[in-house]
Amino acid sequence: MKYIIITGGVMSGLGKGITAASVGRILKNRGYRVTAVKIDPYLNIDAGTMNPAQHGEVFVLKDGGEVDLDLGNYERFLDIELTSPHNITTGKVYRTVIEKERRGDFLGETVQIIPHITDQIKACIRQAAEEEFPDGKKADICLVEVGGTVGDIESMPFLEAIRQMRGELPEHDYVLIHVTLIPEDTMGDLKTKPTQHSVKALRELGLHAEIIVGRSERPIGAHTKRKISAFCDLPQTGVISAATVPDIYEVPMEMEKEGLADALSTHLNLEKREADSSWYRLVTKEYTNRVTVAIVSKYGIEDVYISIKEALKHAGRALSTEVKIVWLDAERFETCQLKDYDGVLIPGGFGKRGIEGKIEAIRFARENNVPFLGLCLGFQLCVVEFARNVLGIADAISEEMGGGTHVIALLPEQEGVKELGGTMRLGDYSAEIRDGTLAMKLYGQKMITERHRHRYEVNPRFIEKFEHAGLIFSAKNKNRMECAELATHPFFLATQFHPEFKSRPTHPSPPYLGFVEACRANKRTK
Ligand code: GLN
Repeated sequence: MKYIIITGGVMSGLGKGITAASVGRILKNRGYRVTAVKIDPYLNIDAGTMNPAQHGEVFVLKDGGEVDLDLGNYERFLDIELTSPHNITTGKVYRTVIEKERRGDFLGETVQIIPHITDQIKACIRQAAEEEFPDGKKADICLVEVGGTVGDIESMPFLEAIRQMRGELPEHDYVLIHVTLIPEDTMGDLKTKPTQHSVKALRELGLHAEIIVGRSERPIGAHTKRKISAFCDLPQTGVISAATVPDIYEVPMEMEKEGLADALSTHLNLEKREADSSWYRLVTKEYTNRVTVAIVSKYGIEDVYISIKEALKHAGRALSTEVKIVWLDAERFETCQLKDYDGVLIPGGFGKRGIEGKIEAIRFARENNVPFLGLCLGFQLCVVEFARNVLGIADAISEEMGGGTHVIALLPEQEGVKELGGTMRLGDYSAEIRDGTLAMKLYGQKMITERHRHRYEVNPRFIEKFEHAGLIFSAKNKNRMECAELATHPFFLATQFHPEFKSRPTHPSPPYLGFVEACRANKRTK
């Protein structure tokens, strides 16, 4: 197993995750089997309890792991499915070590950060790296992205563990890529000083950057590369310019042009292989159409809905249609504004804030034949809207939001659940699609598996009433409603699951494909 460590310098938010994912793609294009691990040095056990407005979307894995959004980037770029052990947090590591201590596993020893915590970190990395893919084979190469910035107190034990790993691995099984910022001064000159300082911080921890990826607005020229090379002890070929590009999926191509594949081959002693270019053809396919989709949400922060944004992009690419997203604040927008868009999407969410606005948006889409896609909370609210405005149950609401007629109710297995961490209905569940429905047209198969993250569901007491009045539950998991649609509408689909988590540039998600196509048809008739 070969390891590619990715650290960050100067500041966070440089696109370290995209860099890591792109490195993986470059290798995958050459036929290597690549897996990835994300280290998050915070104390939370997982991202499930964290506010997405601060940390971005909580990504959900097939096994129900609620993880950092970078795992979504890995899955999309590498077209693989990961599991919870691929996201290591300080919380998980300490919990395991403390449990071992209580069991008496370290009897007599003083339990310390070195070696006990660092040993546990190494064991976690190896375990995730060695995990078999569904075909029973293991990866050739594992990416290990260390979250945060070198020099943070929180990441110290992880970087120490990596320093130890380096000594334990054969020379050509390890390479460290440091991603750093190359800012411009007021004269427009690119400055290398912050990079020099962060490489110095790495050195103090006993680590050396074999490759430096410099993030900048404009490409870094030979002069700047020479300077970085001289100050940071690496050949000029190890300095990779990563200027901002319009679409993240083009990053592998840009880094490839910079010679990253060769630099990696040298360090990891990989044979030189021809790269498959189908990914590049796919992500640079010309757009011939454009649609505008309104997303009505509580947070206007795009990071909260990364997977939705990407899933729309994947579907758009496949249909040569650029999807422009307009974010509407659920508490402020005017319903008549919705006329200006080709489709309306209501994403998942928690809590009461903004739900009345979302319900109004759904009503508008339903009554005016505007293509509509509702996801999780968006599915539940479309059921509430139907109950209120078609069935005439004026006080219909979800149990999550308080008093009224609970057409959406707590899942029975959630009764008595007190702990919030990791206790929702999470991850892969299958659903059976009913023949002759929109869902069947989109998926083209009877049994589907999609990822979930919810505590509430359609109240079984009302199912018959809904179906009688024309709301079709087109996919079900026994008595659990998974999809809703309307036969009388050009495209009205809502899912209790989150199809965006399984969408890839190479495999766009069926509901998203259908939605974008319907937006296109709607635009044509306007
Ligand atoms: N809050 C809703 C529930 O828990 C929906 C969750 C979601 O949209 N992810 O069921």
